[in-house]
Amino acid sequence: MNVVYLGLGSNLDGPENHVKTAIKEVSQLNQTRLLECSSFYKTTPVGPQDQPDFINCVVKLETGLSAHILLSELQKIERQHGRERGRHWGPRTLDLDILLYGEMTIKDDKLTIPHPEMANREFVLVPLMEIDADILIPGCGMASNLISRLDNHSINRI
Ligand code: AMP
Repeated sequence: MNVVYLGLGSNLDGPENHVKTAIKEVSQLNQTRLLECSSFYKTTPVGPQDQPDFINCVVKLETGLSAHILLSELQKIERQHGRERGRHWGPRTLDLDILLYGEMTIKDDKLTIPHPEMANREFVLVPLMEIDADILIPGCGMASNLISRLDNHSINRI
């Protein structure tokens, strides 16, 4: 079993509901158990600003699925939520990212773990640290050190 952290986000068609349903669906995957869930946060979009605010959260899971199988299951869930591949950093009904997979680092054409953007994103680090304040991101350092560099203005707990 591996401890995994996922980042969830949505800013279309009732985003809170997409995130809530996705948490349920993720926790029902084979060989997978939900351990913890952060609060939900309302966050301003990264990139294009002509789109609604996001709802984001982080969940901690225990899973026997490999990282690549987990990714393909998460992509199935994204598609079930009507996710379309639009513009980069554009609006989306559901985004599911594998942030951390145990202490593993992975870099291939499908998967980069730790997630390449996580160290720069308050909407990831804040909920992640709500679950585990002392978490270490392999190759990047302590989440608490990374977050102290960021501005902390564009995210509100709801
Ligand atoms: P996005 O548009 O953010 O949903 O990015 C999706 C693409 O990122 C997919 O094609 C994945 O193969 C790739 N990807 C690479 N690393 C990760 C990761 N850690 N979690 C989720 N998707 C990833």
